[in-house]
Amino acid sequence: MGRVYNFSAGPAVLPEEVLKSAAEEMLDYNGTGMSVMEMSHRSKAFEEIITTAEADLRELMNIPDNYKVLFLQGGASQQFAMIPMNLMKNKVADYIVTGQWAKKAASEAAKYGKVNKIASSEDRTFSYIPDCSDLPISEDADYVYICENNTIYGTKFKELPNTKGKTLVADVSSCFLSEPVDVTKYGVIYGGVQKNIGPAGMVIVIIREDLITEDVLPGTPTMLTYKTHADAKSLYNTPPAYGIYICGKVFKWLKAMGGLEAMKARNEKKAKLLYDFLDESKLFKGTVEKKDRSLMNVPFVTGDADLDAKFVKEAKAAGLENLKGHRSVGGMRASIYNAMPYEGVEALVTFMKKFEEENL
Ligand code: PMP
Repeated sequence: MGRVYNFSAGPAVLPEEVLKSAAEEMLDYNGTGMSVMEMSHRSKAFEEIITTAEADLRELMNIPDNYKVLFLQGGASQQFAMIPMNLMKNKVADYIVTGQWAKKAASEAAKYGKVNKIASSEDRTFSYIPDCSDLPISEDADYVYICENNTIYGTKFKELPNTKGKTLVADVSSCFLSEPVDVTKYGVIYGGVQKNIGPAGMVIVIIREDLITEDVLPGTPTMLTYKTHADAKSLYNTPPAYGIYICGKVFKWLKAMGGLEAMKARNEKKAKLLYDFLDESKLFKGTVEKKDRSLMNVPFVTGDADLDAKFVKEAKAAGLENLKGHRSVGGMRASIYNAMPYEGVEALVTFMKKFEEENL
């Protein structure tokens, strides 16, 4: 059986070239006589893998020298706690709540200090990004937190909030490496890699050096202290070694594709194809305010739950997988991450046109 077009929100599609290359190296990585899964994380071969991965990521994102790159475990959700534990010196933080992931991060942080929800789009089911140009930033806030791309709702911050000088912390799980970013605008950028970069089990944290201190909340475990991992170059304990290896291959793939500018152009072209169709369709409609539309996650509905279910079922039979919307919102969602080829979106739109003709 051939491969399908996989529109999953995560774990998600990876570049075929990367999977093939990993398969070729499975039994014998680079003459070591073993797979990367089997080798010591202290070996020379692995040291080269992790060093190269970091260097390539730094090049792709143009990460300045005063930022550390950490390859950690625990998923993005673990960062919901690690961030306040490490950054809440005044025990105050401002959260902009644009979806379930930001909401979860805010409730987790509330275990450690005072959380001010300074903006939210919950009033309209998180279908937009609030105006963040002049928010009531708390004077003593240790940081301002955003979820930059909202995987479930399909919205994206097109402009970063005005934090009035406070440190910006961003969860970029579902838009990681999808377009260029100015790292200097953030204190912390982090994301689980299982959407746009690699296999689940790993999170990448890019953090400005001055935010890495021993002065963390009392009781913070060693493993949840950024300094532990920064000092040990992500090798304090056994890291998610195979994940780092695959991510490294994806970084090489991204470089070969022309880097993040080229990815942005490619992603815009893919998203435009789908959004243009949604805008003219008589059956399907997008659920998000146009100006805030994500390039990565595209939710849409027919307005009839039975018809939505029929669509998802028939699409699957046609080789278009995982189009069901998140269980909390229903409808459909096409996640069209970096590794989704243009042809995949073309196949989806062609199928949607046919479904529309048959069901209108
Ligand atoms: N943040 C965002 C934006 C997400 O989409 C997700 C997962 N879907 C998470 C956090 C949680 O990630 P994890 O499962 O790695 O904890």
